[in-house]
Amino acid sequence: MAENFIKKEPKKEKISRVAMPEQSPAKRSNNFNEVTLGYSEKDALREASRCIQCKNPRCIKGCPVEIDIKGFIKLIQEKKFDEALEKIREKNGLPAICGRVCPQEDQCEKECILGIKGEPVAIGRLERYAADREMKHIAEGIKECTWLKVTKKCTKEKVAVIGSGPAGLTCAAELAKLGYRVTIFEALHKPGGVLVYGIPEFRLPKEIVRKEIDYVKSLGIKIEVNMVIGKILNLEDLFNKGFKAIFISTGAGLPYFMDIPGENLNGVYSANEYLTRSNLMKAYKFPECDTPIVKGLRVAVVGGGNVALDSARMAKRLGAENVYLIYRRSEKEMPARDEEIEHAREEGIEFKLLANPVEISGKDGWVDKIRCIKMKLGEPDQSGRRRPLPVEGSEFDTKVDGVIMAIGQGPNPLLTSTIPGIELTKWGNIKADLATGKTNIRGVLAGGDIVTGAATVILAMGAGKNAAKAIDEYIRTGNWQKL
Ligand SMILES: Cc1cc2nc3c(=O)[nH]c(=O)nc-3n(C[C@H](O)[C@H](O)[C@H](O)COP(=O)(O)OP(=O)(O)OC[C@H]3O[C@@H](n4cnc5c(N)ncnc54)[C@H](O)[C@@H]3O)c2cc1C
Ligand code: SF4
Repeated sequence: MAENFIKKEPKKEKISRVAMPEQSPAKRSNNFNEVTLGYSEKDALREASRCIQCKNPRCIKGCPVEIDIKGFIKLIQEKKFDEALEKIREKNGLPAICGRVCPQEDQCEKECILGIKGEPVAIGRLERYAADREMKHIAEGIKECTWLKVTKKCTKEKVAVIGSGPAGLTCAAELAKLGYRVTIFEALHKPGGVLVYGIPEFRLPKEIVRKEIDYVKSLGIKIEVNMVIGKILNLEDLFNKGFKAIFISTGAGLPYFMDIPGENLNGVYSANEYLTRSNLMKAYKFPECDTPIVKGLRVAVVGGGNVALDSARMAKRLGAENVYLIYRRSEKEMPARDEEIEHAREEGIEFKLLANPVEISGKDGWVDKIRCIKMKLGEPDQSGRRRPLPVEGSEFDTKVDGVIMAIGQGPNPLLTSTIPGIELTKWGNIKADLATGKTNIRGVLAGGDIVTGAATVILAMGAGKNAAKAIDEYIRTGNWQKL
């Protein structure tokens, strides 16, 4: 009788997504240390075990740099952690950074099959685990850092990269892997772009960025800092110095203001300046570090993206008792990552939604209050989000002693204004073919935020990769197809 029964496999235990350990909100809003603490080995193995190794993995299609996600998770499942990291590095030279700041919820994790009925595999956290594990083992002397010892010698043609953010670093790394001699020219005194001057320490420790840049450098790249291209050298100088192609990745570092009365009062900052002072110049250690910052007890931050949330959380850590986030739409339309919104709420940031500043007023030259008008949502605009409309007669005042404007950034014209004939969009971004980075000038390519406007780390990296491929083809064949 028994053989008539079909033997069923016991049902696999359904494991829920492993939570990310983090500092408590009360503790972390009083320090600058990283909020999330990272998975332990046990956490990583448990989370990796949730991946069902799909025959047709959709997650990879969601990754702009096409990491073999299924492959690296399988290696984690088998406890082959070093091999897992190698697998990631085949496509992504900055895994510890991407594991922390990429919006996976809109990319690979959005596509993960497990997300249809439950929670997707925590791909970003596993990527971070693999990268952090190597750094930890090197620091503890468990693993030898082979890549730092041997800096690769590149022998092919010279290529110049302008800007050392994620787009520039990725383009340089890909070209160096192919043997090109790459020099990155960076305007600031430290390489990394927004990764060092914009995203705060508590979300992306600068030591992590430094180590990832060390890895990229070990591929044979030269980085020249304090080199403002457009001032010290221009593109013609670079071609005359023998560079065969130039990749422009200067980002979107020019802050926008609202053009309302009072924006020139003391205590009003652009988010860009506020974050640069606190991150890059370590103003929070003033006077030990010699960059001051107006700390403020009641600070208003205007905007709803990652930059606004980072500024608000920074203000809290700098000692503000009340931090108001003023955003003209509702929370649903906020472009910031869900995780950042949740963390900000937990840390006590007060959200003033559907409100828009109309005036900032001051006393003795210093900010004293901000006047806002209430907003309601109308029909969707070109961006697909519902258009905010002012509610007549609904103005209200809030006492503040600091205001941070985080309503967006655009391209800095410092370099583009020195390139005769380069085609720009009406916002001043460089017009480049998105698939190759080619501009209308032979041998000049561009990518990252300078082309797309403020976007994401991984999209900038994708642009750097595409441009490297196009530069290689151009140098090998001499072909420069028109856009
Ligand atoms: C506060 C903040 C938080 C963010 N948070 C996230 C996040 O969580 N996740 C995410 O994916 N994205 C985030 N972003 C966006 C992301 O950081 C950017 O999209 C990305 O860094 C763009 O990369 P890039 O290489 O094009 O430019 P950048 O990172 O801006 O780098 C450009 C570099 O070029 C240099 N440069 C400029 N002009 C010159 C010149 N003339 N000569 C030489 N060098 C020059 C600059 O100094 C800079 O180092 C955030 C941005 C900010 C500002
Ligand atoms: S889609 Fe999800 S479950 Fe499938 S291979 Fe990718 S990460 Fe694993």
